[in-house]
Amino acid sequence: MSQVYCKRCKSSHTMRATRKNFFQRVILFRLGLHPWKCIDCAYRFLSRDRGPRKESRPDRRPTDEATSR
Ligand SMILES: [Zn+2]
Repeated sequence: MSQVYCKRCKSSHTMRATRKNFFQRVILFRLGLHPWKCIDCAYRFLSRDRGPRKESRPDRRPTDEATSR
């Protein structure tokens, strides 16, 4: 398991940050970079590490699928 460390404070308390817009997403994807955010110092940086793969998305609402039709 790989861990991404903050490039400013070297903290391991980091999380994947959401990409702002479409252009940023395309550019970063082509460069193979992913946006990260440090929880300790709120510093945003880029890393080639994609982070842990999420099996289940907490923001996904199952009620939408149940009432889709
Ligand atoms: Zn930091």
